[in-house]
Amino acid sequence: MRHKVVIIGSGPAGYTAALYTARADLAPVMYAGLQPGGQLTITTDVENFPGFPEGVVGPDLMERMRMQAVRFGTDVRPGFIQKVDFSKRPFRLEDGEQVLEAESVIVATGATARLLGIPGEDQLMGYGVSACATCDAAFFRDMHVAVIGGGDSAMEEANYLTKFARKVTVIHRREEFRASRIMLRRAQDNKKIEFLMNTIVSAMITRDDKRRLRALALENAVSGERSEMAVDGCFVAIGHKPNTEIFRGQLAMNEVGYLEVGHGTATSVEGVFAAGDVADAEYRQAITAAGTGCMAALDAERWLARQAN
Ligand code: NAP
Repeated sequence: MRHKVVIIGSGPAGYTAALYTARADLAPVMYAGLQPGGQLTITTDVENFPGFPEGVVGPDLMERMRMQAVRFGTDVRPGFIQKVDFSKRPFRLEDGEQVLEAESVIVATGATARLLGIPGEDQLMGYGVSACATCDAAFFRDMHVAVIGGGDSAMEEANYLTKFARKVTVIHRREEFRASRIMLRRAQDNKKIEFLMNTIVSAMITRDDKRRLRALALENAVSGERSEMAVDGCFVAIGHKPNTEIFRGQLAMNEVGYLEVGHGTATSVEGVFAAGDVADAEYRQAITAAGTGCMAALDAERWLARQAN
């Protein structure tokens, strides 16, 4: 089956692209992907999306975006695209069951939380180790948890965790924070949060056969001194990596995998456009993702019109 536009991914970028292409009568097909709604579905209060003076809960915001895209006729599909062939037009996309043909494609596959890659982390994931406070914080009521990282994600996770945990220790490898001033101040003002600076977590330790996180192995980045800290939980909040595996060798990307875009949202393949975090290592906000989703839709619409002439 041949489509004018296929949108891969269903975060703010994907849904905004869907809304615009649907209203332009391009009958978009959207693959919602492995995490429908994207990263906002695992956050709590979103206070910086314009139009919501009281804030809005992440999953609610995404549900509103979905409904708005569907209202104008977007065909939202639950699966995910496993393979693409952008070497000739129409482009070919495989969803595991069928092969689709697309005249244009908007890539809005977003990014995923990064992990440390240290001993114990994989093994204890879900057993005291997590990358999502909003998903797992409630399991740590009255306990002591650590948050690793020094950016806005780490501050947000730490603050959220204090709703449940007795004590939260933010462990950061440097002296300076990457977090914005307002987020940092909020965490610093929170009496349940303490900070451990210049500290590297080198392993996650379980003490018995119960496969449960018990402690973190620490190393002071300045003195090299090693120590252990007993914790009940550990949240890794060290940034994200773009979801671009299936585009390797087909679309130009930088050394860490973010898609390269030229004018507007154009990727290295004519007719393929990129929007949201998948092509943005710098801003990574819901509103910027939505903005580039709009741009990608307009770029695709204009590009399709030029092909028809
Ligand atoms: P980030 O700003 O890239 O910060 C990542 C943090 O993790 C940095 O402090 C970094 O340390 C540390 N880190 C990275 N790799 C590490 C490793 N291997 N071991 C130990 N520490 C490591 O990522 P983010 O906090 O996820 O934020 C990403 C973007 O989303 C930002 O633009 C942020 O403003 C935005 N955001 C906004 C909100 C909000 O406004 N509500 C909430 C969350 C995120 P170094 O500083 O030493 O590099």
